[in-house]
Amino acid sequence: MSTPTRITHLVGGRRWEDTPERTSPVWNPATGEQIGELDLASASDVDAVVGTAKEAWQSWGDVSLAARTQVLFRFRELLNERKEDIAALITAEHGKVLSDALGEVTRGLEVVEFACGIPHLLKGGFTENASTKVDVYSMRQSLGVVAVISPFNFPAMVPLWFVPVAIACGNAVVLKPSEKDPSAAVAVAELWREAGLPDGVMNVVHGDKEAVDALLTHPDVRAVSFVGSTPIARYVYETATAAGKRVQALGGAKNHMLVLPDADLDLAADAAVNAGFGSAGERCMAISALLAVEPIADELVAKITDRVGKLVTGDGTRGTDMGPLVTREHRDKVAGYLDSGVEAGAELVIDGREGDIDADGDGFFLRPTLFDRVEPGMPVYDDEIFGPVLSVVRVQSYDEGLKLINDNPYGNGTAIFTNDGGAARRFQHEVEVGMVGINVPIPVPMAYYSFGGWKNSLFGDSHAHGMEGVNFYTRGKVVTSRWLDPSHGGLNLGFPQNT
Ligand code: NAD
Repeated sequence: MSTPTRITHLVGGRRWEDTPERTSPVWNPATGEQIGELDLASASDVDAVVGTAKEAWQSWGDVSLAARTQVLFRFRELLNERKEDIAALITAEHGKVLSDALGEVTRGLEVVEFACGIPHLLKGGFTENASTKVDVYSMRQSLGVVAVISPFNFPAMVPLWFVPVAIACGNAVVLKPSEKDPSAAVAVAELWREAGLPDGVMNVVHGDKEAVDALLTHPDVRAVSFVGSTPIARYVYETATAAGKRVQALGGAKNHMLVLPDADLDLAADAAVNAGFGSAGERCMAISALLAVEPIADELVAKITDRVGKLVTGDGTRGTDMGPLVTREHRDKVAGYLDSGVEAGAELVIDGREGDIDADGDGFFLRPTLFDRVEPGMPVYDDEIFGPVLSVVRVQSYDEGLKLINDNPYGNGTAIFTNDGGAARRFQHEVEVGMVGINVPIPVPMAYYSFGGWKNSLFGDSHAHGMEGVNFYTRGKVVTSRWLDPSHGGLNLGFPQNT
């Protein structure tokens, strides 16, 4: 066994060299080996990082848009050049297969490309002669230091949803990645310095609740972007808004796919397998409940079973289809749902605890699992499992399926599979979910739209990236201006009127 690598903070463009009060292990989930030892920041470490970021913001906020854009373009090129190295880091600590890791970096790149257009995105309005010889115009200015707190499941992409937009808008960033797979975020952050971003504008601080709490209450942190599970998202939203900050806190999910009887069942089966088991189901947009409108359930379950039988689970560096779960504890928790599903009366069609694994060592694997005849009230339906467990719920009609989706406390993503344009159009209007796919199982919006759910999947009112991201990271100012000429003399204490 090799010695674990030290993973530390990145502050003011440099690796942090002090001695940490606490550390935590980082695992390779495919082998079960400890590969890293992560420094965990104390509240006073966080205070020092925020101080560095604040100082850097005081200059960066005044840098011209032309110069900021040059940094963004260089960063885009560097990220594109190094994407394979970053994907390898993701696979080593998260476990997802290499092609999937590369896909995540590519989706993150789209946000950088969106942020390259920041001069256009920050253009204000101008009204000449709003009142006689009075002009009115608007501008958007940076906030200061913003904090980004990210989850384990997209260690590169989720930080990239926020950081490029925040920096392009003139802010300084303190990123707190997941302590489970922190290295990809550090590697991406190091590219900013190479791209010419002044030291201190982009910082990474590692830690757990102590570091997060310090960010949520720090007086110099102006805004918090959080992505993670619903209980923590709610806590982050309540704590940071109580401390006077603007907050967008994206939470957990339970995504449903509604398959109507007229759908192409081969396409629907492919989509259900890809969206249910890709990244071992550890995606906030994963499909976990498949609502099959009768009479197609038997046929659909057979097609899915056939496809799952062809999937290879194993080490993500070996060209397998599905990798391990992120930690041993999480794998055991997900596996626990297999027993609870059976106890609750669901039919276990494929048991992920059985079958071969293509890996060496003692990795955190569970193969794809399929349940049929799942019903609301069973834990396997009600909980966000966040693993490779797909549940088929048999429903009698479109209306019954729609009601289940709308009654669910989460509202992140959903999809309908049908060849009926009228039904699809009705669904997109009636469904109470933030991101909707029509024959698209994982409808992640492009970077120039915004990503975010409804209900318990989002606390706050701003989604990530797109114009909502630009607005979140800036504050508006409106100037009313009159350049005096001799006609403006005289006293008048009345309220100004538009003339
Ligand atoms: P998590 O909530 O455990 O952790 C997220 C972040 O919060 C991490 O940085 C972690 O260090 C920090 N954290 C954890 N516990 C904390 C506490 N008690 N106090 C303060 N901070 C704490 O989430 P995770 O397991 O890393 O990620 C998986 C979850 O994220 C799933 O629920 C998934 O649906 C959700 N997710 C949502 C989206 C979305 O866009 N809505 C995207 C990705 C992931």
